[in-house]
Amino acid sequence: MAPTKVLTGARVVLPTGTVDGGSVTVEGTRIASTAPGASPSPVEGAAQTVDLRGHWLVPGFVDIHNHGGGGVSFAGGTAEDVLQGVHTHLRHGTTTVVASAVTGDLDFLARHAGMLAELAQQGDIAGIHFEGPFISPCRKGAHDESLLRDPDPAEVRKLIDAAHGHARMMTLATELPGGLDSVRLLVEHGVIAAVGHTDATYEQTVAAVDAGATVATHLFNAMPPLGHRAPGPIAALLEDERVTVELINDGTHLHPAALQLAFHHAGRDRVAFITDAMDAAGFGDGRYMLGPMEVEVADGVARLVEGGSIAGSTLTLDRAFKRAATVDGLPVEDVVAAVSANPARLLGLDDRVGSLEPGKDADLVVLDDAFELVGVMRKGEWAVAPQLA
Ligand SMILES: [Zn+2]
Repeated sequence: MAPTKVLTGARVVLPTGTVDGGSVTVEGTRIASTAPGASPSPVEGAAQTVDLRGHWLVPGFVDIHNHGGGGVSFAGGTAEDVLQGVHTHLRHGTTTVVASAVTGDLDFLARHAGMLAELAQQGDIAGIHFEGPFISPCRKGAHDESLLRDPDPAEVRKLIDAAHGHARMMTLATELPGGLDSVRLLVEHGVIAAVGHTDATYEQTVAAVDAGATVATHLFNAMPPLGHRAPGPIAALLEDERVTVELINDGTHLHPAALQLAFHHAGRDRVAFITDAMDAAGFGDGRYMLGPMEVEVADGVARLVEGGSIAGSTLTLDRAFKRAATVDGLPVEDVVAAVSANPARLLGLDDRVGSLEPGKDADLVVLDDAFELVGVMRKGEWAVAPQLA
């Protein structure tokens, strides 16, 4: 068994609040204890003690919407590619990631889901998110219009089955024919129904939530804007206690005021920061493919070569965290909820991840005073070891 690791002298963000000079003890892959002060010394020589010198110690990040990174794609890559992307995001603090597919041919998606399901079975990813093909041509974003279809429950079922119990979420335009029946089918199979890439009215969105939809796929993006006579999906999704809203906090997808509006209305417990990352995340500018679509990344912003639609992001969750805590001025506890606790709860994984508590996986992130990442641990092993000399 791996030696006990004692992390001391940290500003630890616990579910009950933040403690200065706190400690976390890791045994094997799990958190053994958390303490407000220095941890009681374990047996001499049996433990590695790391003094974190006042750095932040927060739970590992959970990304529920992510298409790739490190130059490779979750939406079309090989198993090896996917693992490389997972590792890239891990080095940026994401210890739990759901792999997002994009609109494609149904047979392709089913085959690809089979491969992703094996990685989920091994614990490398936390399941599969299908973003498309059941989305609105009016709000298609970077999805291939020729492959979009109405949400036929039989086809939805085909993808659920292809994922062998690892389908976690599906984004759909619930106003399309078959939309509400598909939402009910997803919920019946334990799959999160997410409203997104949608042209729905306020009333249609309320109906989708009543049918069981519980997530807003990148709120504000790829949906009608908030209007005072036609409030559309944004108002319906923000006001409903049952809905968690995804936000892409990269400074490009959202104006800071839109982020504040979402936090103000949804509160600390209903916001999930996502990356919606594509291959260039943690890699660099250049030409990439997002599913079947060609994308040009310049200055970290990904756009379709044809038409110029924003095509995912190059965000990593450590940058979303830093931006939220600095530019947006959010309390660190709120940011931790948005990157860890809320998405973990949404996935039903909050018995294992999403907070620093005894018995949970030792997934944690160390950040300095400026919220720059200095350490990442997943299941008790350092993926990025803090250099504190
Ligand atoms: Zn996406």
